Amino acid sequence: MSKHSKIKQIRASVIKGGEGGGGADYHDQGEGHWIDNHIATSMGRYPEYRQSRKSFGINVLGTLVVEIECEDGTTGFAVTTGGEPAAYMVEKHFARFLEGRDPFDYETIWDQMYFASQYYGRKGIVVNAISGVDLALWDLMGRLRGEPVYHMLGGAVRNELQFYATGARPDLAKEMGFIGGKLPLLHGPIEGDEGLKKNVELLADMRAKCGDDFWLMYDCWMALDVNYATRLAHACAPHGLKWIEEAISPDDYWGYAQLKKNVPAGMLVTTGEHEATRWGFRMLMEMDCCDLIQPDVGWCGGVTELLKISAMADARGIMVVPHGSSVYSYHFVITRHNSPFAEFLMMAPKADHVAPMFHPQLLGEPVPVNGRLNVSALDKPGFGVELNPDVKLYRPYTH
Ligand SMILES: [Mg+2]
Repeated sequence: MSKHSKIKQIRASVIKGGEGGGGADYHDQGEGHWIDNHIATSMGRYPEYRQSRKSFGINVLGTLVVEIECEDGTTGFAVTTGGEPAAYMVEKHFARFLEGRDPFDYETIWDQMYFASQYYGRKGIVVNAISGVDLALWDLMGRLRGEPVYHMLGGAVRNELQFYATGARPDLAKEMGFIGGKLPLLHGPIEGDEGLKKNVELLADMRAKCGDDFWLMYDCWMALDVNYATRLAHACAPHGLKWIEEAISPDDYWGYAQLKKNVPAGMLVTTGEHEATRWGFRMLMEMDCCDLIQPDVGWCGGVTELLKISAMADARGIMVVPHGSSVYSYHFVITRHNSPFAEFLMMAPKADHVAPMFHPQLLGEPVPVNGRLNVSALDKPGFGVELNPDVKLYRPYTH
């Protein structure tokens, strides 16, 4: 047991390569990928930015890789979004709170990173960087103890994970054994009643293909206003829309509270992938903004913060179904009753087969089989994945 080994060095790297790079910046895909094909966004009001999210820079940050090495040579790592700006923060600001310290002091490390950056941080890319460090710490702790992260979070409450699939082809997801399919909304308010009609028609088409019992959801990626979202929800209700996700701006807590009152009974309002920290989620919950929260463990503050967010949600009867994030989410979801299923992002360009979310960056990344994953797939130290040595890292800053 090398639990007293101190942290020797923390390093932050990015992936050079750009177009079609994939990795933790999962929006960074090649031409023709469903994830960048006319998806409704707030930028849709500008015609030149309507067809492609990459056109307005959705992939501008790229991947952040954080590695934390102990004096005994044990190294933990994690990947998230944030690229060079996040690498700067890790190297130039946060490194001082880790090096020379016991890696099991994760509460103090988190607290010092957050409050030292509070005057410029609190959300967004700064919390992405904090999340990357926190996840690398959990990976390191698992490797030092020889235990999977889910063990350290209290152990599995179920013997398998079950998944819904996010992507353009819920009909294919059903054939692959998933419990539901979440479509990206394609047309925003700027495309008027005609666009609204097309949105409803696509759902109706998928309902016809998938049958009555398969979950279907719409992910609106912050594109709508309360009125449009309300009209969409009611128009989709006859086609069995299970939830309406991230319908409006994450800053508009008042709008979410109104939308939750407006939607048909039984339809869930979900949001939170662009929310951060216990305080952001406290706002969502106290203002009664949604039925289910979707923190991204790589963006909300890491596992350390997700545990706090999840405890608040549990006390309120709100489900926690983390946004994407593959193994970083799975190790949490398997340990919580209020996290009854998980999201799987269909990263295949045509959403027609299961592909690892972080491909090609990670090795050993487990994927659902028949829409399920047995807990034994997580039984490796830490998060159980390794960096692919063929994906070259570049360390833009040192300290
Ligand atoms: Mg979403």
